[in-house]
Amino acid sequence: MKLHEYQAKQVFADAGIPTPRSELAASVDEAVSAAEEVGYPVAVKAQVRVGGRGKAGGIELADGEGEVREAAESILGMDLKGYHVDRVLVEEAVDFENELYVGVTMDRGEGKPVAMVSTRGGVNIEEVAEEDPHAIAREHVDPAFGLHPYQARRAVFEAGVDRAVATDVASVLTSLYQLWDEKGGADAEINPLMVTADDEVIAADAVFNVDEDALFRQPVLEEMGEEGEFDEDELERKADEYDFDYVRLDGNVGIIGNGAGLVMTTLDLVDHYGGAPANFLDVGGGAKAERIANALDMVFSDENVDSVVFNIFGGITRGDEVARGINAALGEFDEIPKPVVVRLAGTNWQEGMEILDEDLVTVEETLEDAVQRAVEYAQEVEA
Ligand code: GDP
Ligand code: MN
Repeated sequence: MKLHEYQAKQVFADAGIPTPRSELAASVDEAVSAAEEVGYPVAVKAQVRVGGRGKAGGIELADGEGEVREAAESILGMDLKGYHVDRVLVEEAVDFENELYVGVTMDRGEGKPVAMVSTRGGVNIEEVAEEDPHAIAREHVDPAFGLHPYQARRAVFEAGVDRAVATDVASVLTSLYQLWDEKGGADAEINPLMVTADDEVIAADAVFNVDEDALFRQPVLEEMGEEGEFDEDELERKADEYDFDYVRLDGNVGIIGNGAGLVMTTLDLVDHYGGAPANFLDVGGGAKAERIANALDMVFSDENVDSVVFNIFGGITRGDEVARGINAALGEFDEIPKPVVVRLAGTNWQEGMEILDEDLVTVEETLEDAVQRAVEYAQEVEA
């Protein structure tokens, strides 16, 4: 479960980590009163549980009522990476000299928690992690003993943090680790941890993802999770209800497949043929007719989807069963909402192809043909 920035900041602040003064607002007027309460200049920040809000236009600085109005008007109601923005956090703007990164997560490779520090915090940390992994200092932690103070200091030193703030950064890292450990954190991250001209450190952003299995021990966090669901849209509710992992992407070709690898391959092919995938949806093995219908319902409700490619490789999943599921699901419509292309392979694929009703779907024998067809359909809608 992910907390919103404003919730994670509250958790961090309660643990003694410095955070900017801030208030939540759900309307332009509320944003203005929040700004007056907090004091100008302010940062107006979209509260959606996804990273990279800054680059996507979800964060604006404002100095004065007019600017806050403008910022709140443009951010509230916007669609940010598929999330509808219903609330903004209005927070005291920090005048910073440097942006650091501190984080704690589980290193699956080592089977140990790892505490991290970098002086290259800010919006590009993912790129830094990829291109220059040494720019992030790491300390593995023995969970039985926790993060020793000397380890925190070592990470801060190795990262090359300015000596004037080293003690404070080490203490933020220590607090972050304790929170992560006590509250069943999966990821805890402060990016950026801003350093001001007066050598103060302050958590300007906050990420705290909680392990779902630990939630029963954390009633306060569980409540935060429920309270934070205002940005969950129709699609996410459906994905929850149907028990699908549904990942939205930027394109308009809907993708349904069984098996993560097969879905990834389909994604790559869509890209290869000049299309852009709208989503990742794996219906899993042994997909019964109902699951097929649910998967179609999901992609049809995704307004970004203009065409759908169904890529099923039969093993436990039988082609004839999938075909019946598709016919049944599409038979419900007077008019098919979006063109569907189907490719079946593996167990009973021939029976499946014969069963499929070609008034309802386009049937292709090869994956390449199916993907190309779906890309064409999507382009026709676009044109
Ligand atoms: P993210 O893009 O979703 O990670 O949102 P962040 O809260 O990390 O903000 C992204 C970037 O916006 C930061 O790295 C800063 O450069 C800038 N930013 C955010 N808050 C402030 C602020 O209070 N003052 C200033 N000057 N910049 C800010
Ligand atoms: Mn950030």
